[in-house]
Amino acid sequence: MPCLFCKIVAKELSSTIVYEDDKFLAIKDIFPKAPLHLLLIPKKHIISVNYLEPADKDLVGDLILLAKLIAKEQGTAESGYRLSFNIGKDSGQTIDHLHLHLMGKGQLPLS
Ligand code: AMP
Ligand code: ZN
Repeated sequence: MPCLFCKIVAKELSSTIVYEDDKFLAIKDIFPKAPLHLLLIPKKHIISVNYLEPADKDLVGDLILLAKLIAKEQGTAESGYRLSFNIGKDSGQTIDHLHLHLMGKGQLPLS
């Protein structure tokens, strides 16, 4: 049974896509917690940071570089933005498919 983000990656569920390439999808968060709230999702199913392997190091590096690029494209690079991973139950991770939150375009609550 594929997870929610695997279904979004496969276009079996709709989402608002702001970027796509062969390795990543960036979508708008359906319940935004900031004026700009995107989710950067590797197409490969990895449950969380806890499940990353050394072989994923390029994927993770590319993910951060993509976040920087999208932040610039979305006009939040200069004013500031936040990148965050939730990892596991206590963090509030609700979807067990690695994703990087990109929040910006306004003052963000301290965390
Ligand atoms: P996390 O708590 O890190 O697992 O974050 C999951 C995020 O996915 C939350 O911010 C949700 O608002 C968001 N979300 C849940 N379902 C969808 C969906 N169908 N499309 C876009 N974002 C979603
Ligand atoms: Zn998945």
